[in-house]
Formats: sequence, structure tokens, C-alpha cells
Amino acid sequence: MENKSQTTCTYCKGNGYFQLVTGGSETCPSCQGTGNVETAATTGSSSS
Ligand SMILES: [Zn+2]
Repeated sequence: MENKSQTTCTYCKGNGYFQLVTGGSETCPSCQGTGNVETAATTGSSSS
């Protein structure tokens, strides 16, 4: 079973960047332009 720990960055909606209201674009600081963010392991699936 693949347990992917990445999810689409909601900050930039997976674009990797977002457009500034002032014009231009900015690399998403949340995902560093990858468009995906690593999600921390949640809700105790404990492996010994
Ligand atoms: Zn992002």
C-alpha cells in the first residue's frame, strides 16, 4: 500500500507559485515551487 505523504499545495493550488495582486508571480513559500507539500504523519499510525 502506498502511503503518499505529499498532497497538492492548497496555497498555490499545485501551481508552485501564485500571482501577486501587484502583478508578477511569486514562488510559493509553502511548497518551494513544487506544487506539493509534504504532510506530517497524522493521527497515530504508530509503527513500533
Ligand atoms: Zn504551493
